[in-house]
Amino acid sequence: MRLALPEGAGYIIDTLMQAGYEAYAVGGCIRDSLLGQTPMDWDITTSAKPTEVKHLFPRTVDTGIAHGTVTVLLGREGYEVTTYRIDGTYEDARHPKEVAFTPNLLEDLKRRDFTMNAMAYNPKEGLVDAFDGMGDLNRNTIRCVGEPRQRFGEDALRMMRAVRFSAQLGFSIDSATRDAICELAPSLERISAERVQTELVKLLTSSHPKELRTLYETGITRVILPEFDAMMQTEQNNPHHMYSVGEHTIAALGHIANDKTLRLALLLHDVAKPLCQTVDEAGVHHFYGHPRQGSELARRILRRLKFDNDTIARVCRLVEWHDDNPPITETNIRRAVVRLGLEAYPSIFAIKRADILAQSPYQRLEKLAYVDAYEECYDKIRSKRQCLTLKDLAVNGSDLIAEGLRPGPKIGQALQSLFELVLEEPQNNSREYLLQKIREDIQKNSMI
Ligand code: ATP
Ligand code: MG
Repeated sequence: MRLALPEGAGYIIDTLMQAGYEAYAVGGCIRDSLLGQTPMDWDITTSAKPTEVKHLFPRTVDTGIAHGTVTVLLGREGYEVTTYRIDGTYEDARHPKEVAFTPNLLEDLKRRDFTMNAMAYNPKEGLVDAFDGMGDLNRNTIRCVGEPRQRFGEDALRMMRAVRFSAQLGFSIDSATRDAICELAPSLERISAERVQTELVKLLTSSHPKELRTLYETGITRVILPEFDAMMQTEQNNPHHMYSVGEHTIAALGHIANDKTLRLALLLHDVAKPLCQTVDEAGVHHFYGHPRQGSELARRILRRLKFDNDTIARVCRLVEWHDDNPPITETNIRRAVVRLGLEAYPSIFAIKRADILAQSPYQRLEKLAYVDAYEECYDKIRSKRQCLTLKDLAVNGSDLIAEGLRPGPKIGQALQSLFELVLEEPQNNSREYLLQKIREDIQKNSMI
């Protein structure tokens, strides 16, 4: 078996071997190559100790020296080179208390999470596959190296990694591995929010986001996103729906591009429905106010998962306005754009379409036609370069001061009222007209 190594990885392995050490490309890059995909990065494992690696290459960075990792820089590329190691006992299902270096490749492969991630390769020895990773790749199966309970006990994040890989690769999880996840999911509580966030985003932005259901069924969301369990348990008895809130959400995720903001917004668009559910005399369910409450709840959840402020702001804005459906006139749509913020466009259309496609067929064509008309109107407004932010107003604060308005909060208010005139009628956005308006106002006020 021959795999195509990038030049840099080949050179590093060669250099280490010429110096008398063992060296292999290992882990995700081998898995991806065998699947015919282009690996994002190539990790190298070696019998050489970090100091010995540093000795052989002129440019290195001490990336994780305590864990044996040195990054070797070649031109603009960096390759992580890690010494064969055995992970010591894990004190808290999080990280090994200590790592020990080992001269034995097999020991290093044994510490890895799944059989498909525990293969190594170099051009001289070919593929080293001690745990039938190749067989599992061929069977489309994710299986722990060794005893699943023990492996998840060492690092609980591996449970989320299993589900995330199944979402990325379309693989199933071996039954013993899955059973262990169901048993040990509660121990994810001890894993840092940052690590959980990384895995959740990888799952959501994968080609099979429906594996979110596996996170629920195995008890993982109960720990990391209990709000999703509430969604799965909230029925929607009304003509627009045919699924529970959770199943509707899973279906909607399958109807949108795999972009982080879009997928997070869809994940959370109905997150407050369990809190907003009411039942009328006819037994029909309503969810009044769920977009607004949803954006507040989404903010709390995303903060808890340590997302950055920019992502939180974008996602929450889409959640808050996902159900905003102004009657289509140019003025209404201009006002909607100001309400939502220009940055929410054109994302909001993708969100709306995915939401509709995951609802019952009732009025589906009408709903989709509405979104088309909304988008057309928005496009028209944009192509005419109409003023949609205070920044685009033909006058600014200094102009108003020059007209005699006193600096202070009045300026902001005056600009806002001019902006209103322009939103109502874009042709009003001329310097002469707006300054004239201000002069009239000043005159009126000084007469009173
Ligand atoms: P991706 O880069 O797509 O996240 P990957 O498999 O390359 O997938 P990395 O986090 O880059 O994942 O890790 C590289 C390798 O290190 C893995 O293939 C696996 O062998 C090992 N590994 C990573 N995380 C763990 C873990 N939590 N437990 C055991 N082994 C792990
Ligand atoms: Mg990787």
